[in-house]
Parts: sequence; C-alpha cells; structure tokens
Amino acid sequence: MDPSDNYETGSARYASLLRQIPAVDELLTRPALRALEAHAGRRLVREAARQVLAQLRVHIMAGETGAPSVEEIETQVVEATGAASEFSLCPVINASGVILHTNLGRAPLAEEALRHVVEAARNYSNLEYDLEKGARGKRDIHTDRLFTRLLGAEASLVVNNNAAAVFLALNSLGEGGEVIISRGELVEIGGSFRIPDICAKSGAILREVGTTNRTRLADYAGAIHERTRALVRVHPSNFRMVGFTERPGLPELVDLARRSNLWLIEDLGSGSIVDLAPLGIGGEPPVAESLKAGVDVVTFSGDKLLGGPQAGILTGRREPLARIRKNPLYRALRVDKLTIAALEATVALYLRGDTGSIPALRMIHLKKEEIAPRAARLAERLARLPGLSVNLEDGESVIGGGSTPGQSLPARLVAVTHARLSASDLESRLRAHRPPVITRVERDRLLLDLRTVFEDQEDPLAEAFERATTNDER
Ligand SMILES: *Cc1c(COP(=O)(O)O)cnc(C)c1O
Repeated sequence: MDPSDNYETGSARYASLLRQIPAVDELLTRPALRALEAHAGRRLVREAARQVLAQLRVHIMAGETGAPSVEEIETQVVEATGAASEFSLCPVINASGVILHTNLGRAPLAEEALRHVVEAARNYSNLEYDLEKGARGKRDIHTDRLFTRLLGAEASLVVNNNAAAVFLALNSLGEGGEVIISRGELVEIGGSFRIPDICAKSGAILREVGTTNRTRLADYAGAIHERTRALVRVHPSNFRMVGFTERPGLPELVDLARRSNLWLIEDLGSGSIVDLAPLGIGGEPPVAESLKAGVDVVTFSGDKLLGGPQAGILTGRREPLARIRKNPLYRALRVDKLTIAALEATVALYLRGDTGSIPALRMIHLKKEEIAPRAARLAERLARLPGLSVNLEDGESVIGGGSTPGQSLPARLVAVTHARLSASDLESRLRAHRPPVITRVERDRLLLDLRTVFEDQEDPLAEAFERATTNDER
C-alpha cells in the first residue's frame, strides 16, 4: 500500500470513475442487449458484459481511460458477443500454394465425399449392421472392399491417422519382441511423431541397423535372432538423402522377411495412389507397388496424397491384418462413420477414374498454363486498388504435407506490394480478414498462388484485398 497523498487523491478519483460503471444486471436490461440475447443466448451476452466491464475497470485503474458512456459500453458488449459466438474453426482461403498444408487441414474433400458424409451423419446407417443377415456387422467392411479393389490388397483397416496406424501395426506385430529399422529411416514427421518414440510406446524393441546413409540387406540379416518379429521400412517423407546412399530394394527385403519368418511392415506416409512421375515428381512410391512386392502391412495417410479425410490406412495381407483387427487398441483407434463415409466416397472416385474430382489431386495436376489466366485476371483486379502494385511472375507451388521434399510444381504467381504497407503488414491484415487469406511473403512482396485457391474464392480473395487496403487507418 502506498500511503502518499498522491495515491489517496488518485484512488478517490478512480473510485468515482468506477462508480459510474453500470452493474452487469443493469447493463443487460438495455433493449439492444436484450435483443442480442434472443439470438446469441443469455449466457454469451452475460459473459461478454462481464468481460467488457472487467477490462474497463482495469483500464480505469491504470489511468488509461475515463468512464465511457453506457452506449459505448453497450457497443463493446455487442462486439465481444459477436467475437465469442464465432466458430473457432473457420474456413480460410489458402493462397500459399502449399496443397497439403498440414496447418490448414491438409486435403479439402471432394463434393461426392461431402455428400456422403452428410448422408451418413443425418441418418442412421448400416455402420456395423449386416443387412443380409440382420445381425451385427463390422465397420471396416465398408472401406475394406474398396481398398481391395483399388490396391489389390487382401485386407485393410482404417484408424484415426497414419501415426496411429504405425503404432497399431508395431504393437500388434512387434510387442514384446524386436523390430529392425534402418538408421536412415528413424525419421521425425512434424514434432510429435518420431519413429523411435512410437516404437518404444508400442512395446516393440527397436533394433537399429546400418548407418544414416547406407544400410545393406546384410545389416538386416545380421540383426535377426529368435526375438525378432518384424522388419520395418519407413518412407523418409519429408527429407531427401542424396550422394553416397544405399538401401535394399523392396523385393530383397520381402525375400529376407519370408525366409526368416518375419513380418515386413512399411510406413509409406503419403500413400500415393496415382503415379506422380509424369508430373516430374519422384520419390513417392505408389501403395500398390509395395503390396505387389509382397509387403505384409503397408500404412499411409488418408489426407495426404490420397486426398481424403484424416485417417490412417493399414492394408496388406490377410493374416497380419486379422491380428491387427483383434488388438483391443484397434477399438480405441478406429474411425467414426463420418470418416468412413468420406473415405469410401473418395476411393470410389479413384475406382471410377474420376481423380479430377478430388481437389488435392486436381490441384497437383493443374498446369501453369491453367493457372496463368486466373492469375492475370486477379492481378488486373488488384491493380485497380489504391496503393497496390501488382506483377505476375513464374514461381513454384509445393505439394506439402511432408511429402515430395525439395520438389515443386511450376506456377504463375501474383506478386503484390503496397505503397505504404509492408508485405508483412498486408499479410497480417489479410490473415485478420474473415475469411482469412493465407499468403506467402518473400523479399518484402506478398505472393499469391492460385493453385490452392478454389475458383469461387477468387471474389472473396479480391474483396479481402479491398478491405485490407481501404481500412488504411487501422
Ligand atoms: C505423415 C507421415 C506419418 C504421420 O501420418 P499422419 O496421418 O499425419 O498421422 C507417418 N509416417 C510417415 C512416413 C509420414 O509421412
């Protein structure tokens, strides 16, 4: 406590200001807030009022403000209620050119998938009901038959994500024994997924073989003993090794696993269904190739190159998959009916040969020549806005999602600068807009890549620029 006169007079002044602030209940009787309660709900409005008044007291005590009018307070409560009733998860316009942007939700779903999700969500379904027998059925049959057709697998299972798929495979087939993994494949995929950690949690003992850059078949063979359960191969999704490197081919590993009576598990990560080589994108082996080579269990993500919902797919031979299905952990990691619906509809598009309807694949296959006229149209529109200088330039989009590292797709970019705002100011204004627009900043220019922008988002994108550049005084 400060006993000085100054404090006394100051505190008396604050006390009188604080007395002018209305009580929450009094504030809530105001007609505008009553009306607001009718659609936002009493609870949210009351909370907002409390929060606004509490903040006001803090500002008054800090000497930052006098006592505002009740009308001003009311406006603040309306705004705070509006902010509190907005959904936290909101759609964004992805102008970054990163197609499977993990932070932006990876693959957008196909219209067919959305329709099937809505249908499954709105109604009861035969999720676990055998309509022929009139008895309890299994939820995995819905996707199992499709993956069998699409990939030539004997059996498949779907879990929450690929991290769960790898964990479940290691636990089901390796717990209590050893699994052999090359030192060059002990990868980390985005922070919380590290192969050695997942392996440790699965109860399988990791036996590292070879070196970072070179591992030979003899290294695997030399590490096998009576407690070995599986050979594990991991696709080094998000980095590329070049130079003096070596790892055995899949057929050799399959052969070694068979001869030694071991499982061969392969974590493919991105799980490419269509061959991307014609686009000049290498290093993403198609899932079907691994199955054809004889891998027992292949795992991959549903929302990377497959372009479906977040999911982890385990696919391969009947016997190991039956074991995995029996694991009680499968019950804990399995997916819900909405994921099954989205996945089923996405895979059905592959079977129909209609991959153009899968947004992520369509974006991957877009040619620079197809993006260029859209970029030109947007550039023309943005150039009319005051303060903006707009150029078109060649650049690159990336697939992302921890796939195809160091590789890119040729793109036509819109480069924007502003007379007064820095590129990062402009970037943050666009990010604050609703819907938020996510862009790239490079060498103090804002770059827009329309590869990842849906055509019906072009208007809202241009409007976001209008707002960002006209509200110059913010
Ligand atoms: C992406 C990836 C994972 C994790 O998959 P999620 O679906 O994100 O859980 C695991 N392994 C590899 C090799 C990956 O590329």
